[in-house]
Amino acid sequence: MATLVYLEDHEGELVKGSLGVLSKAAQLGDDVAAVVAGSGVKDLAPQAGRYGAKRVFAADDPALASPLPQPRVDVLAKLVADQGFDTVLFGASVLAADVAAGLAARLGAGLNWDLVDLELRDRELVGKRPALQDSVLVEVGWKGEPRLALVRSGTFEPSESGGDAEVEDMAVEIQDFSQGAAMLERAHAESEGPSIEDADVIVAGGRGLGSPDRFELLEELAKALGGAVAATRAVVDAGWYPYATQVGQTGKTVSPRLYIAAGISGAIQHKVGMQASGTIVAINKDPNAPIFEYADLGVVGDLHEIVPKLTQLLRDRG
Ligand SMILES: Cc1cc2nc3c(=O)[nH]c(=O)nc-3n(C[C@H](O)[C@H](O)[C@H](O)COP(=O)(O)OP(=O)(O)OC[C@H]3O[C@@H](n4cnc5c(N)ncnc54)[C@H](O)[C@@H]3O)c2cc1C
Repeated sequence: MATLVYLEDHEGELVKGSLGVLSKAAQLGDDVAAVVAGSGVKDLAPQAGRYGAKRVFAADDPALASPLPQPRVDVLAKLVADQGFDTVLFGASVLAADVAAGLAARLGAGLNWDLVDLELRDRELVGKRPALQDSVLVEVGWKGEPRLALVRSGTFEPSESGGDAEVEDMAVEIQDFSQGAAMLERAHAESEGPSIEDADVIVAGGRGLGSPDRFELLEELAKALGGAVAATRAVVDAGWYPYATQVGQTGKTVSPRLYIAAGISGAIQHKVGMQASGTIVAINKDPNAPIFEYADLGVVGDLHEIVPKLTQLLRDRG
């Protein structure tokens, strides 16, 4: 297998999800290369060696400054044609999903989407994808090459296997038809502390909070723990908290060391986004809430009393 992993960058850093996919690719085979594509990204390229890339292609060009998919499709399509990669892997994000879909269309290649695992069986690549509202896992394959795969965000943790990558500069040639879209404005959501994808500790809230202002309780607790705040779809749909923090089937998949779920019933669609967490603590006033079936520690009680006490306890301990 000759594998190429698309490494996304954001604010001067390689995105954790794509490094996780690179680590997984390196576990599956030796011949793993990566590509960074952006403006001012060349300095990021050598880092990929630590996560298992033998070669890193640096497509560093002002034409790639905006996070638009089609110019990146040009870069990847050229690499596949020139270097003969038979497999191209992506860690899911809004941009990566667009690039993967665009590359599939450009190359007439098969793209398997939303994978939560990859393995080699009899030298064949097999993907695993949740189906039927995440209640079953199906195995998927490819009919031809190159095989394209988009891995669900948060699925693989980056792991350093410690090597040096050979960095190759790429001449960037953007097709005329790839320049039809322009980024006019980018909004930036202000937030404090780590994002839920990066946090070691997540404090998540659901409808049991009762009203949007009660998220303050969770923000205080998250601050005391150095963590991030997440939410269920029910409260995101109600406009109580931003979609960027939604965990679950139609939100993000996270795997922090500690996940505290307050006022969350534990529906299957929420569970699939957080079940890989190290330790799950649930606070719910209903002893029969489904979340207690998979929580490591369950506290039956009113979150409005318990959460402030927990925060105070942590503050007192310093
Ligand atoms: C196709 C599809 C996709 C979906 N995707 C997602 C997804 O990505 N993420 C997601 O989260 N959901 C998703 N859902 C929705 C999911 O099915 C649930 O409806 C949702 O997770 C419930 O959110 P909740 O736990 O906040 O609310 P509820 O189910 O209403 O639970 C609230 C809980 O709070 C408890 N509670 C109430 N008051 C207190 C209190 N004072 N103290 C302590 N506990 C209290 C209650 O006992 C209850 O268990 C999806 C659904 C569908 C059909």
